[in-house]
Amino acid sequence: MTSLLDRQAPCPSCGATITFQFAGAKAIVCKYCKALVVRTDRALAMVGRVADLLEIASPFTLHATGKWGGKRFEVEGRVQVDRAGAPGAPWQEFFIGFPETGEWCWIASAQGRFYSTVEVKPTPPLPPPGSLRPGAPLQIQGQGALTVVEVGKRRVVSAEGQLPNVALPGVATWFADIAGPNGVFGTIDYGSDDPQAPIPPALYIGTQFDPAGFQLDSGQPLEQPQAKVAEAQCPTCGGSLPIVAPGTAERVVCRYCGTVSDIKQGGRLEALAQAPKPPMEPYIPIGAQGTLRGKQSICVGFVIRGCTVEGDRYHWREYLLYGGPSAGYAWLMEEDGAWKFVVPINAGDVREANNTVDYRGQYYRFKQSVSASVEAVVGEFYWRVEVGETVQATDYEGSGGIVSVERAETEVTHSLCTPISDGEIALAFNLSPPVQAYHYQGGDYAPPQAKRISPAVVWVIIILVIILVVLASECDGGGGSGSYSSGSNTHYVGPSFGGK
Ligand SMILES: [Zn+2]
Ligand SMILES: [Zn+2]
Repeated sequence: MTSLLDRQAPCPSCGATITFQFAGAKAIVCKYCKALVVRTDRALAMVGRVADLLEIASPFTLHATGKWGGKRFEVEGRVQVDRAGAPGAPWQEFFIGFPETGEWCWIASAQGRFYSTVEVKPTPPLPPPGSLRPGAPLQIQGQGALTVVEVGKRRVVSAEGQLPNVALPGVATWFADIAGPNGVFGTIDYGSDDPQAPIPPALYIGTQFDPAGFQLDSGQPLEQPQAKVAEAQCPTCGGSLPIVAPGTAERVVCRYCGTVSDIKQGGRLEALAQAPKPPMEPYIPIGAQGTLRGKQSICVGFVIRGCTVEGDRYHWREYLLYGGPSAGYAWLMEEDGAWKFVVPINAGDVREANNTVDYRGQYYRFKQSVSASVEAVVGEFYWRVEVGETVQATDYEGSGGIVSVERAETEVTHSLCTPISDGEIALAFNLSPPVQAYHYQGGDYAPPQAKRISPAVVWVIIILVIILVVLASECDGGGGSGSYSSGSNTHYVGPSFGGK
């Protein structure tokens, strides 16, 4: 039921003609004066003004058209949002309309994965945000088993085009991200009771989707298969720091001088602080690449974490692996020479209750829960890592491995850890086998060479030296490029990254 008056009217702020083209839109950003204009029963009202759009790359552009699941769509608008509690890592969501049916959805992407959500109506009664705890199960009638992933406040920073409804720019409003089994993903938007622009709470539910099924008329693929390495310079020492995942990396810790920087738009680094140098070189050098478990992987970060149990300090080491935009991230973790391969799992597939975890129908029993904190860090990370950052890490053990639940104040992350041999890692990254476990005693780091070396290791070293000598004599000064990696000849993944 749209009249001409509904669809076209002068901007209440600048007088330019603004047009509501999509029936599902209740708000619009004037492209001339950036006024946020909502339609009320009678007329249009300006409720705020948005800031300039941030440069966040995306294949979607305003008014882009295409086909998805056989239906024509148009990109009607986008909104850019930032966390109110920890600003500086904004994200954006696109308002997609289907003109033939009047349906619409939101589309967002994070770490190379795409999500779409639709508003669930009638909106069931929603629990108040104060009652939600990250990691806890959530009951919403008709929505199956859900898990709270994150609870917090966010602010609209900028927007363009038409929108179904949108909070006043700059005003913090509550939201909760939730997940269900089989990739179900959702958001509770708690809206706003601001009398100027009241927005009722709403529930959005959707799933991760395969970008291959999404066709833009421009022909541009949604997926950017090639991760371009951004060349960045450390603001302190000037060292070259290639950013392997420029679209997703948020923080980099200089491998040369330890300067912690945020990665700003366009790959510029903004120095924040100095991190202590890790007391050891990472076994897998930052930048080393290889094929692990059939996937191209590049080691982008190294973290030493620790916890205190009954007065004793324990340490372990974690290597962040990046597998390209679609494969995303994984970890290798080493403690006392034992390695684990750690992959993130969907919070919606994990049910925690009574000291057990049910992950995809398999039970895992409570093993331990520790307060784990970051002690040293180097490399690039998809979150704003810092020394001292602490999470409650709870492990559940079962026949499938260990399900690890890491709970921070506002967020929970889940991962599955399975044993992996150091030989497999050495082979994958073309490294010499690791010297046995580094033992830390009484909280002091004992450098690897200070440890008593077992006779077996001595023999391995002797044999390796012999092999090297033989190889060197056979190669006869042939350059040795790529045959033996010692960290100095590791190279960065260029445009061919990500394969397929
Ligand atoms: Zn205007
Ligand atoms: Zn530096």
